[in-house]
Amino acid sequence: MLARKIYFEEHADTGRLDKKKVAVIGYGNQGRAQSLNLRDSGIDVVIGNMEDRNRSRAEKDGFRVLDIGDAAGNADIVLLLIPDERMPAVYRQDIAPNLKKGTAVCFASGYNIAYGLITPEPHLDIIMLAPRMIGVGVRERYLAREGFYSFIDVRQDHTGNAEKILLALAKAVGTLRAGGIPATMEQEALLDLFNEQAFGPAFGRVLLTAIDILIKNGLPPEAVLCEMYLSGEMSYTYKKMAQIGLVKQTDFHSHTSQYGAMSRGIRYMKMGLEGKFQKSIDEISSGEFAREWESPLARLKFSLIKFFATRQKINRIEAKVRKNLRLKEFKTETAPEEIGELLKRPELKNVIDELRDFYEYEEE
Ligand code: NDP
Repeated sequence: MLARKIYFEEHADTGRLDKKKVAVIGYGNQGRAQSLNLRDSGIDVVIGNMEDRNRSRAEKDGFRVLDIGDAAGNADIVLLLIPDERMPAVYRQDIAPNLKKGTAVCFASGYNIAYGLITPEPHLDIIMLAPRMIGVGVRERYLAREGFYSFIDVRQDHTGNAEKILLALAKAVGTLRAGGIPATMEQEALLDLFNEQAFGPAFGRVLLTAIDILIKNGLPPEAVLCEMYLSGEMSYTYKKMAQIGLVKQTDFHSHTSQYGAMSRGIRYMKMGLEGKFQKSIDEISSGEFAREWESPLARLKFSLIKFFATRQKINRIEAKVRKNLRLKEFKTETAPEEIGELLKRPELKNVIDELRDFYEYEEE
């Protein structure tokens, strides 16, 4: 475990990576960004990827690309940058049997270790470098010499060098320009999933309720969506919160806005969210969610969710608004063929009924 302090560039020595072979497994969002950053920092990087579109992309970017097992087996440091839900099988079949003793295996998310889906062999160093930034941001911020935050941790230190390797990697990938924040894999996974499963949906429900009531009060949908999110003003406010502070950013708003928000804010003090938030924390921490997501039923439910969610009322309103505002239009609906006969399966009836109600589905 790392000491509880924030890590910056002066805490790391990239010389620790001299003569080390680094393999990046997966060349998707994070894989591409991190590989390019590491290479630009002078690190020798090899990519391990399946025979597919991303493999060609890595080759076009000038990397040597090997099969996953070969890349992992020849490396001193392995960055696992494949989707979390596919990682356990790939790790078991292609990675673990090929790793040399003392290899440092770096995860970009604590998920699989935290919920016991991968149990690493004791002769490995297990570290985590989990960016709080999407892949394109990881690359753009590196190029702009700005950095990005990451949660970092040493889970298992077989060689005695795990911390130094982790910090060197973190510096080379560009995160220590902003800061490396120590968090265990369990804490990283909990924060990530809580944001996705509790804060995000609660925020989304507030947003949808506001849109619905404003339209019911006769306001034009174009104006409503523009006010609530399409103008980008909201995301700009979020950016300002990060730059100067949650409360301090209110200085950018008018006095009427500040008085109105603060004097009326009291009505929303008791929204009853604590109980639901705690339930999410308990469900995530106990591994209940991870076990559910591993089940075949959850994978079927996921397809159904995509089907119904992409047919909810807001999607139709938004499509019309985007057209009227001459914004780029996107295909949003999951085609019925994509879910095949799922809607007719009797064992899924309860799930289907629940989703129909939740998304207020109207038969086409
Ligand atoms: P992506 O889905 O973008 O990329 C996955 C890569 O893995 C692709 O090269 C893909 O190849 C390959 N891949 C997919 N399935 C398999 C498989 N069964 N066997 C072997 N290779 C496979 O993943 P992300 O970059 O989004 O995520 C990687 C890690 O980074 C995860 O641990 C995630 O939690 C973490 N992370 C992601 C963030 C993000 O912004 N996306 C932010 C912070 C952390 P192809 O699809 O071409 O077959």
